[in-house]
Amino acid sequence: MLMEIHVAHTQGFCAGVAYALNIVDLTLKKFGVPLYVRHEIVHNTSVIEDYKSQGVIFIDELDEVPDNSTVIFSAHGTAPHVFEEAKKRGLKYIDATCPLVTKVHRYADRFSQRNVQTVLIGHKGHQELIGTSGYVRQDLLHIVQNVSDVDNLNIDPQKPVGFLTQTTLSVQETGEIISKLREKYPHIEGASKADICYATTNRQNAVIELAKVCDIVIICGSPASSNSNRLRETAAKFDVPSYIIDFPNDFDISLLKGKKRVGVSSGASVPQKIVDGLILRIQDKYPNATVHQKDSVEKDIEFPLPKSLKEQCQTA
Ligand code: SF4
Repeated sequence: MLMEIHVAHTQGFCAGVAYALNIVDLTLKKFGVPLYVRHEIVHNTSVIEDYKSQGVIFIDELDEVPDNSTVIFSAHGTAPHVFEEAKKRGLKYIDATCPLVTKVHRYADRFSQRNVQTVLIGHKGHQELIGTSGYVRQDLLHIVQNVSDVDNLNIDPQKPVGFLTQTTLSVQETGEIISKLREKYPHIEGASKADICYATTNRQNAVIELAKVCDIVIICGSPASSNSNRLRETAAKFDVPSYIIDFPNDFDISLLKGKKRVGVSSGASVPQKIVDGLILRIQDKYPNATVHQKDSVEKDIEFPLPKSLKEQCQTA
């Protein structure tokens, strides 16, 4: 039986991930190691292993960073008190927060300055949500993860209310949560399409296209990667067996038995070599398998490093 491998037209590194990795690469090139990064710069095991092999040290908290060292803050965003702590200690720090996450931080800050009760939609414990929460005044903060959390919200409907979202959520589930919020608080403020970023939306749309034509979908992505997990769930909603794998060898190739069309995609922090490795692995077992992929819808999107940040990476 001839097998077809359908690769999502839009997958792999988004502009925000490329931006953050560019910061690490420039700083490494200029200053070498030791270089500290607070939290995984992006949630991908292969990327982290590559940097570790170059001597980059990943830490959870600033007290692990020796005095006079340089530390980079991850793409997911960092709460203001951490910047304050770094300043107090006189550490040299560089902020690699994705500009789209920074935009959400600004909205959070503005809401708090205006005393707006802020409903933050996202996954508790995820670094992005923790970072964004830091920009919301704690007496105004309400975190919701699902529709039933909205039912349990106890905000005075006379008060101004706004919502913000994590950038890497499921478009569909977030839409349901926002509809519920608008029902409960008709005057609620928030972006019409939530704060889910273009990269998350494009990758979920591309996976929906795969799920409609494939008998199995494999997502390359690490367990901690929110956007990768949402891709697997998006495919699974179409009743297609869907799997997430960190490395090509993690995939149980026997699952392809009897399958004609295999869908392959990857999260926004996954290097192309992982997807290529998976395709090679499938072709090794099924040498006649053909690869099909349409053009990406993101060819021209890039977040250039601001001049000041570029200089910082070279003078940290
Ligand atoms: S997934 Fe979106 S928000 Fe996250 S780094 Fe990429 S572009 Fe930025």
